Amino acid sequence: MRWFHAELLACPACGNTRLIIYPFKEKEAELPGSPEKVKCRRWCYLYDRQASSVPLKSCVSTCMSREIEEGIIVCPVCGRWYPITEGIVVMLDDKYRDDRKYLDFIKKYKERLPEWVARHMKIPPLTSGEAETQSQQK
Ligand SMILES: [Zn+2]
Ligand SMILES: [Zn+2]
Repeated sequence: MRWFHAELLACPACGNTRLIIYPFKEKEAELPGSPEKVKCRRWCYLYDRQASSVPLKSCVSTCMSREIEEGIIVCPVCGRWYPITEGIVVMLDDKYRDDRKYLDFIKKYKERLPEWVARHMKIPPLTSGEAETQSQQK
């Protein structure tokens, strides 16, 4: 996901569009053909400012050319989190999501998760000891 895509997202559970992005791994991406058409419009997430106060040039050289490969998106309204893995945002409704799939992902980045996010995640325990006990299944 590139930074300028962030403003197009909404939390599927509560509809909030002001999400918080925690990037863990980024890479350079190729610029789109006509950058002025895809510039951040409402809110520039990378600069964390109103898009109108960020010059086009800054948005073009960063929001559009920086791709988040791994990270999480957090909804501060309902507290849900959504993973970005291999550049893809996985924003699923509660019925469809299976957080156990992201256990390895979360373990890998747990040091970099904000405290409140780590505490509220409804996934199997994050400490390696507890996770091992679970996978042994007695
Ligand atoms: Zn921007
Ligand atoms: Zn939400």
